[in-house]
Amino acid sequence: MKKKNRIVVGVDFDGVVAYNPFRIIRAPIAYVKKNMLGIKKTKFYIPQSSVEKILWTILHESSVFPANGVDLLREFVEQDRIEAHLVTARFHFLQDRLYQWLRRYDLERIFSSITVNERDHQPHLYKERVIKENRFDYFVEDNLDIVEHLSRTTSTEILWIYNLLDRFHPYEKKFPYLQQALEYIVKKQ
Ligand SMILES: [Mg+2]
Repeated sequence: MKKKNRIVVGVDFDGVVAYNPFRIIRAPIAYVKKNMLGIKKTKFYIPQSSVEKILWTILHESSVFPANGVDLLREFVEQDRIEAHLVTARFHFLQDRLYQWLRRYDLERIFSSITVNERDHQPHLYKERVIKENRFDYFVEDNLDIVEHLSRTTSTEILWIYNLLDRFHPYEKKFPYLQQALEYIVKKQ
């Protein structure tokens, strides 16, 4: 009898595995663009100049710590209940820091694979491709635009980690932290 007992879960890095309280600053801007100006964001801005890259790095790196749920993720992986894959669309100049961060918290080894956006492709399209190639059972993502895109274009179950400002947006599978998303995944098996 063939029975797959490990659940294959893809997770985003920024906002899902790593929590940065300063990222909330960008949310109101996105909200105004989308709901008040009617701009549907389908394109993500890619920093070009060195000044922009430095600002972007500070925004991503300041006060980033493991999110609520990372300990549970480690536990489920060690118990062989979950096979975890890290998929990040963060741009190439932030990638060295990603590995430094994972090593600092001894997290690199818990992921069966780590996929980075080496060519700075558009995040939603990049993630769509990786998810389809790997056929994850679940993918956990915090960016609402990306969540909506992926739930339309892939057959993977997309779980959304919302933030304080977009928490009322209707979406069936939404969770405040990775912790609750993992509990949902394991309970369903
Ligand atoms: Mg994210």
